[in-house]
Order: sequence, then structure tokens, then C-alpha cells
Amino acid sequence: MSRIVVLGDGQLGKMLKHAGMPLNHDVLPQNLDSESLIAISPNDILTVEREHWPTTAVTDHLEDHASQFANLDAIRVMNDRKTQKATLDHLNISTAPWAPIDQQPATELAQQFGQRFLLKKRSGGYDGRGQMWCTAETIIDAEWQGTSIAEAAIGFEEEVSLVGMRDATGNVFFYPLATNLHIDGQLMATFADLPKYRSLQSQAEEMLTKLLEHFDYRGVLAMECFVVGEQLLVNELAPRVHNSGHWTQAGAHFSQFEAHLRAVSGTPLSQPKTVGNTLMINLVGVDLDPAWYAVSGSQVWWYGKEVRTARKVGHININADDFSNLADPASTILSTMPKPYDEVLDWVKELLAI
Ligand code: ATP
Ligand code: MG
Repeated sequence: MSRIVVLGDGQLGKMLKHAGMPLNHDVLPQNLDSESLIAISPNDILTVEREHWPTTAVTDHLEDHASQFANLDAIRVMNDRKTQKATLDHLNISTAPWAPIDQQPATELAQQFGQRFLLKKRSGGYDGRGQMWCTAETIIDAEWQGTSIAEAAIGFEEEVSLVGMRDATGNVFFYPLATNLHIDGQLMATFADLPKYRSLQSQAEEMLTKLLEHFDYRGVLAMECFVVGEQLLVNELAPRVHNSGHWTQAGAHFSQFEAHLRAVSGTPLSQPKTVGNTLMINLVGVDLDPAWYAVSGSQVWWYGKEVRTARKVGHININADDFSNLADPASTILSTMPKPYDEVLDWVKELLAI
């Protein structure tokens, strides 16, 4: 049995704990604000469920055990968009054109990146927070200077993500590319896997393999991409299990959570086999509806959080043996949900070409 201490105790930490049970791993998510510190023994493995963290007694204590902390150096590079993007450039991996923000006025940035461009905080942003769309007329406040990057707006056809894993001996495996719908910067749904993007799988795997090897990475690493014609541009990387990989809980013979635990603990990995097609719907600001459980193929994950506007409180995986059998359960669930789930339903219908 391995003991795996997780920095963070949100839903990702809880799902890691759940996945640890059949592996007989004792997975211990840590509340960062806790006043009691876990005693770390030399065989413990440390990992994260988040890439940004404040300095607290708990995070200081875990960082003190750097040699047992999986991927700590890689996480430090990836948790700053500037160093993350610089690494992508260094490895010749295509990404949205970008530059660090210093004192440049919006007019100069508009000349470099086009009429409409995006500012992103270097660290701490998630679900589209910490971002601002700009034009040449935007006044860029001091709060963005030195703390952000600018990015060109990408006119993408779709967003996809690849969840990959690397074990202690350097073997790499990947799930199929998943297609993602974001609304207002927040992930709302993921679909795996779409035949029309299978031709992009090897391009995506090549990119992620370079990164996994560059970081001598051990565990699950997620890569979000924009699809532009036949080309993938990396949007961002997440050095952890990722929301766009939740579909693997219902759609693969082992989930991304199990994959991560196996990789960090030295348990062998194998090529994950997928089972049919899976649609993952994020539950954002909606109350639990017991009717979801009555839909065949649905698997509900409820995080036990208070429901608030824009807050992710759970997700539903709907699995079916083929596309045609996903449309009905997806419509049953989505048509009873409030706005903007009508947009999610439209997106699903378009993907399934109904
Ligand atoms: P996450 O919650 O995944 O960590 P995030 O808030 O850190 O997300 P991004 O993934 O960088 O931020 O951006 C959120 C979304 O905003 C993207 O998924 C995409 O829909 C849109 N977006 C980001 N960058 C661009 C860009 N350069 N051009 C067009 N759209 C973009
Ligand atoms: Mg993102």
C-alpha cells in the first residue's frame, strides 16, 4: 500500500481518494488552511490537485519534502503562464501568439496581436477568471502590468484536450482527444471521442510526449488545444487530473484519477481502453435533480458544495455504446436544465449531427 498525500482537498482530491480504493492506496487530500500538519514519512508520495496554492503552514510543510513531491519543478514552471508559454516555444510546440505584459499600451498590443486580443493573469486564473478581452482602445490598468501575458484571439473551430500519463520508467499512454465546450471561459461539457478529430490524435500525442519527456514527468498531464484547420495550437497545460478528463470515469477501463495514482506510486500503467462514447456535463450553479439518476447510462458525481451561480458543484457522465444512443439521454437531462444549458444541448446536437 502507498500513502499518497494530496495538496488540496477539493473535488479533484476527493475523486483521487475514491480512485485509490481499488489500488489499496491511502490517498490523503489536505485542506490548505488546516492547523494540524500531517506527519510525512519517507515512503509517502506527495502530489497536487491544483497548480496554484497560497503559502500556508500546510503548503510550506509539503514543499519541505520536495524529493517526495511528484513533478514539483514542472508544476512551478506550468503554474506561471509566462514560463509555461516559454517552455512551449522552446520545445517548438505551437501555441497562440503571446507576449508578457509590461508597460505596452493597448494600441501597441493591438498592432502586434490584432484588433481583439486577450490579457491573461500569469497565475491564479481558472474557469476564465483573471482574463480580459481588449481592443486598441482598452486602458490597461497597472494591475495587469508585469502580472499578465497578452494573447492573440484564436478563431478556433473547436477546443479539444488530451489527457496523457507517464510512468516511472518513461512509458507514455493517452486517452483519445476529447472535444470541449466552454461558455464564458468555463468548461461546460466534454465529448469523447469524436471520429472527425481522430486524425489529430497523433499530432496531439507528439506534442504532449515532448512535454512529458521534457519535464521527466510522472503522472497525468492535461493539454488543452484549439483546433485551427488541421493544426492544433496549445492553449494551456494542467499538471494534474483535469476537468476535461472526467469522462474517463465512465468511458475508459481506468480513469484519469487511477492513472495518476498508478503513475506516481510506481504501479504499472497500460493503454486505457475506451468504452463507447461519453458526454460529460459540468453542473454549474444547478441544484441536484434526482431524475438524473433515472436516466440509463448516466453517472452523477455530486461534490457536496453549496450551490451558487457559476460554481461547479458536480458533473454527469453519460455513456452509450454509440453516438446514436447518446442523443436521447443527453436531451432528457439537458432539456430540463436552466440557461445556458440550451447552448450545451445545441452543441451536443451539432456534434452528433442530429
Ligand atoms: P481553466 O479553467 O481551464 O484553467 P483558464 O481560466 O485558466 O481555464 P484558459 O483555458 O486559458 O483559462 O481560457 C479559458 C477559455 O477562454 C478557453 O478554453 C477558450 O474558450 C477561451 N480562450 C482562451 N484563450 C483564448 C484565445 N487566445 N483565443 C480565443 N479564445 C481563448
Ligand atoms: Mg483552460
